Amino acid sequence: MINKTDFYIDGKWVAPQQGTALEVIDPSTEDAFATISLGGEADTNAAVAAAKRAFPAWSKTPPAERLALVKKIREIYKSRMDDMAAAISQEMGAPIDMAKQQQAPAGLGHITNFIKAAENFEFVRPLGDHAPNDRIVMDPAGVIAMITPWNWPMNQITLKVIPALLTGCTMVLKPSEIAPMNALIFAEILDEAGVPAGVFNLVNGDGPGVGTQLSGHPDIDMVSFTGSTRAGRLISKNAAETLKRVHLELGGKGANIVFADADEKAVRRGAMHCFNNTGQSCNAPTRMLVQREIYDQSVEAAAAAAQALEVGPAGSNGRHMGPAVSGAQFEKIQNLIQVGIDEGARLIAGGVGRPDGLNRGFFCRPTVFADVNNDMTIAREEIFGPVLSIIPFDTEEEAIAIANDTPYGLTSYVQSGDDARRSRVAMELRSGMVEMNGQPRGAGAPFGGVKASGNGREGGMWGLEDFCEVKAVSGWGA
Ligand code: NAD
Repeated sequence: MINKTDFYIDGKWVAPQQGTALEVIDPSTEDAFATISLGGEADTNAAVAAAKRAFPAWSKTPPAERLALVKKIREIYKSRMDDMAAAISQEMGAPIDMAKQQQAPAGLGHITNFIKAAENFEFVRPLGDHAPNDRIVMDPAGVIAMITPWNWPMNQITLKVIPALLTGCTMVLKPSEIAPMNALIFAEILDEAGVPAGVFNLVNGDGPGVGTQLSGHPDIDMVSFTGSTRAGRLISKNAAETLKRVHLELGGKGANIVFADADEKAVRRGAMHCFNNTGQSCNAPTRMLVQREIYDQSVEAAAAAAQALEVGPAGSNGRHMGPAVSGAQFEKIQNLIQVGIDEGARLIAGGVGRPDGLNRGFFCRPTVFADVNNDMTIAREEIFGPVLSIIPFDTEEEAIAIANDTPYGLTSYVQSGDDARRSRVAMELRSGMVEMNGQPRGAGAPFGGVKASGNGREGGMWGLEDFCEVKAVSGWGA
């Protein structure tokens, strides 16, 4: 049993002042493999106080110094990639090869992209030729509370910690209590890189405890949150009293519009994208909208993709799908599959229960529903599991209307061989991102949503700007 009960506060590993032990569960076995502490108010206060003390000096360090530090973090991160992948795999169930190829490298990719963005970042900018003595100054936003989820943990932590460091903010990170081990490794990396005391602090805890203490803390200037829409609402309400900036990256219910002229791999690609990370991605394309002319063959192709996907323990090598993260998540997925059946969607692959041969571990069956109507629960709620809903459509206008008819607005997807149509449809979709024909967004593109998917933009230049306050100055001298 690994013991990791300390927090990282003011440049040191310290024992909790008000800790409650929490076991970290391996979702492939349902067995505990580590113990952490959930902190209390005294721990939160100590971390916030350290970050507040560190802010004046850190915010005034030259940007080049902060950039050099992040470059050092990058080198150490690279040397810890295997540890990182192993921790993520065990605590949240990503198959080890996938953790090595996607989960851990996602963090490295963001660090690299932020370094590039910071090299070109203007902290002092001209307003325009019409106002030659005006400057726009990008000030650090202050002391930041960062609250992160378990599903792509290093992706989300680097998207917050690295730009905050680069822009001169100080911070307290509260990672997910369900998958905290990767964050503890990350704190070791920052410590080894020589991040000055108090600039980065980590306190483990849960939402009602440390999470709530941070979002309401008078000395926190901004909360950067990634997680569920439910928690995003609670955080926004709690932060309102102290008028903090609240940056939200929330859930999604992405539409993937497959037109009849899409390439032949589009349906399989969309299904596999939905099942990646056991469907536990906020940007998963979980509603597949298929044009009537190719509907029957597409339903068959999606079912075949689900049936061919093996499910197994996270520790095994291969391209299988791992378990859901927790017992609670497993139950939620099972319930929603049953609701899909009860509401009359046509189950064409998977279903309730574990896959054959797996009696322990939070394993789900890759599931596909056809003939889904966009008003059904499975088309409206974020399931956060390997469940694909296929919805037929006839016209482009109808597809756009169905795609936009959702409380969410994170990523939309379009598959079509018609260049003009793709661009036209992208302009109509109400979401923070549109990915087309299987082409991922480029390095440094902003990640974020609209409506119930949140309001932040993370990554690259936009991700740096999100951690700045914009100061307008007139009468600038030299
Ligand atoms: P969650 O909201 O339950 O927890 C996320 C974090 O918030 C955890 O650290 C948790 O302890 C904390 N938390 C929970 N309640 C809180 C409260 N009242 N106050 C303060 N903190 C609180 O979400 P999760 O189950 O860890 O993650 C899954 C969710 O995250 C999904 O809805 C998913 O779509 C979303 N997500 C969004 C993005 C994005 O960028 N848009 C990325 C990944 C995940």
